[in-house]
Amino acid sequence: MDREFDIAIVGGGIAGSAIGYGLAKAGRRVVIVDGSDHGLRASRTNHGLIWIQGKGANCPPYQRVTRLSSRLWPSFAAELQDLTGIDLEYRPSGGLNFCVSEAQFEAQRALAERMVGSHPDYEVEICERSRLENMLPGIRLGPKVCGASFSPMDGHVNPLLTLRALLDGFVRSGGTLVTGEMVSAITPADGAYRLTTNSRAIAAERVVLAAGNESTELAASLDLPLTLVPQRGQLLVTERVEPVFPFAASGLRQNATGTFQLGFTNENVGRSVDVTLSGGNSIANRALNIMPDLGKLRVVRHWAGLRVLTPDGVPIYDRSRTHPGVFVAACHSAVTLAAFHAGPLADWLSDGGPVGHYQDFSGSRFDVGATA
Ligand SMILES: Cc1cc2nc3c(=O)[nH]c(=O)nc-3n(C[C@H](O)[C@H](O)[C@H](O)COP(=O)(O)OP(=O)(O)OC[C@H]3O[C@@H](n4cnc5c(N)ncnc54)[C@H](O)[C@@H]3O)c2cc1C
Repeated sequence: MDREFDIAIVGGGIAGSAIGYGLAKAGRRVVIVDGSDHGLRASRTNHGLIWIQGKGANCPPYQRVTRLSSRLWPSFAAELQDLTGIDLEYRPSGGLNFCVSEAQFEAQRALAERMVGSHPDYEVEICERSRLENMLPGIRLGPKVCGASFSPMDGHVNPLLTLRALLDGFVRSGGTLVTGEMVSAITPADGAYRLTTNSRAIAAERVVLAAGNESTELAASLDLPLTLVPQRGQLLVTERVEPVFPFAASGLRQNATGTFQLGFTNENVGRSVDVTLSGGNSIANRALNIMPDLGKLRVVRHWAGLRVLTPDGVPIYDRSRTHPGVFVAACHSAVTLAAFHAGPLADWLSDGGPVGHYQDFSGSRFDVGATA
């Protein structure tokens, strides 16, 4: 075997790179092995929201780690920016969840009350239309907009620059990045693990599987409890205009470059990442209901990606039942959770993943016969 590492991470998407960055900063000898350009790469197709509102409505521990990540994001972004010189375009702007019917508005109000009841530090304001008009002086709201929930906990970031900065920060912190290599097998060898790729073998004491939607086969071979239900999301991007909309919003944000990024669809279509006319239409209609003037802008890009989704939407952080040095990290919202992954989750993995700590995130909850 050609290299020796404390920890090998399979997958250099935003989850693997954030964990790797945190572990390398902690002084661990870490390698990230990242696969082919033709793989499924959610980290290159997402919306860039740091979104806390409503997360973990049925799983309080998930709301707590999401909230923790939001609190860690400012120092995480500043540190990564200082280290790499890459501007992540991070904006802790707060986020709006627009409602275009009274029923939606009442549902948002009920959700906000429930979340505040369960989490004393949950911050949310229910805004009537008149309040929104004051908050958004440069925006003409559509006639159906009756209000929104607003949370200062939310924000947004450029997800591609974040990924680039994480990988750069990982290497600058002493990590080894191997790209263009697919790990085809992970096998126990001499008290450690051997990762076999197309052209080499890598030895590491521990392994973290963070290969997104492509994790399932390797997970099954290692008795790692991992259930994923990939879900397609399509997004549209408009031409650039002057900055008019400073907030993050569910399915709508203006990038630092001036383009509007509009989303999204939630489609169960297997592993297809095709874009569709009906998907584009439904995104455009939703956006036009909120801000009719967006209709004056040309759409310049339309793409789709696959969410790394568990059946209940809550992340899986777990270890193999038979290979104690092998872990898995899989989640939707890995942009939101990047600061948590690079901080507390990396610390947990650095300590060998003490049992019980992230029990609520065990993949065993989906075992046949498991009770919630
Ligand atoms: C349309 C859409 C919008 C989204 N919007 C948001 C948002 O606003 N905010 C948010 O927080 N999240 C959002 N997400 C979710 C977010 O993009 C994902 O949670 C995140 O990208 C998952 O990252 P990952 O590293 O786990 O997986 P991936 O990005 O898929 O990375 C996995 C990596 O592993 C590599 N790999 C796979 N198999 C192997 C192998 N055998 N050997 C070596 N390497 C391998 C792949 O090449 C890839 O680089 C969105 C997702 C979609 C699809």
